[in-house]
Amino acid sequence: MITLAHIPIVDNHAHNLLRPEISSQYPYTRSFTEAYDDLLIKNHAHTTLCYRRSINDISVLLGCEAQESAIIRQRDKLGLEKLTRLCFERGKIASIILDDGFLPEKILPYTWHQQFTCVYRLIRLEVLAENLFTRAESFEDFINQFRYHLQSLPPDIVGFKSISAYRSGLAIELVEETDAKSCFQLFKEICHDQPLRLTNKILIDFILLQALEIAAQSQIPIQFHTGFGDRDLDLSLSNPLLLRTILEDSHFQNVPIVLLHGSYPYTREAAYLASVYPQIYVDFGLAIPFLSISGMRNTLRLLLELSPTSKILYSSDAHFIPELYYLGSLWGRKILKQVLDSAVEDGDLTESEANAIAYDILRDNARKLYKIN
Ligand SMILES: [Zn+2]
Repeated sequence: MITLAHIPIVDNHAHNLLRPEISSQYPYTRSFTEAYDDLLIKNHAHTTLCYRRSINDISVLLGCEAQESAIIRQRDKLGLEKLTRLCFERGKIASIILDDGFLPEKILPYTWHQQFTCVYRLIRLEVLAENLFTRAESFEDFINQFRYHLQSLPPDIVGFKSISAYRSGLAIELVEETDAKSCFQLFKEICHDQPLRLTNKILIDFILLQALEIAAQSQIPIQFHTGFGDRDLDLSLSNPLLLRTILEDSHFQNVPIVLLHGSYPYTREAAYLASVYPQIYVDFGLAIPFLSISGMRNTLRLLLELSPTSKILYSSDAHFIPELYYLGSLWGRKILKQVLDSAVEDGDLTESEANAIAYDILRDNARKLYKIN
């Protein structure tokens, strides 16, 4: 039996917490579901296995009754900073890599999180492009600015993140510059100087090709949202197999690509890609801790079925509230232990190999990939 309760975690994909005045307007159940429809949250979100289990886990952490109302009283008593400190300490979270492009107007700044742990950041590519679009005077100016931002990175930026799965899908094609320019000019005419929500496939594919080219020069990893998410996403467009064009392209062979969320339910596909493409890595955040216990176990088993263990990464995909950082760590460790123990029992691994793999998945694979200490 291996032990991994003591291993410090590097969480390679998570988000900033909500500002307290925003968080207090959200139902507590909202943090345990990818749904945002009021009726679903009010009537059904509290009946998932994840929610029921999480309430129990959080009540143990806070030393209160396993009821949402008791937890909320206890949270109010502690305040956000003490609660966050408790979650990070109990979770033994040594570093986090934040995608701070999610709900930027509602979250605490990344500097706020530095009081609890080491914080690194990602650039959310589509959001950067949207911000630059409004200011750009021409297509050339837009692309030059976009490239400049990716080439002159502050030292705490360790990767890029793409949400193309949410916008135009993962089937990124090698689009021509002239086509991207026509789209840019058309949207400029429609929007004038108003903000643009970038959903146009040609423009998104074009900016991603720019990012891939820069990432290839600097060996910077790109995280792709894959698999499940909220209903803004067309799940059929978030299958990682759709990335084939860029995976096969010789220009991008040395860009490390991280498939987030175990690509659930395309987990077998993700493990397959990691087993045949040197540049592919897989992460299991969100699937752990949002699935049932057997769902989390199956996801990690499916990844380990085929993927090299040196390419599997831990993350929580925590967002909104600090409890998700704690729950990610709690269940990441428990499930990894169960799956590795059973691999030892099966004869796939020796106990010392399983121990080393636990360190790799929880900490060292991410340290190497993002070049962090
Ligand atoms: Zn995320």
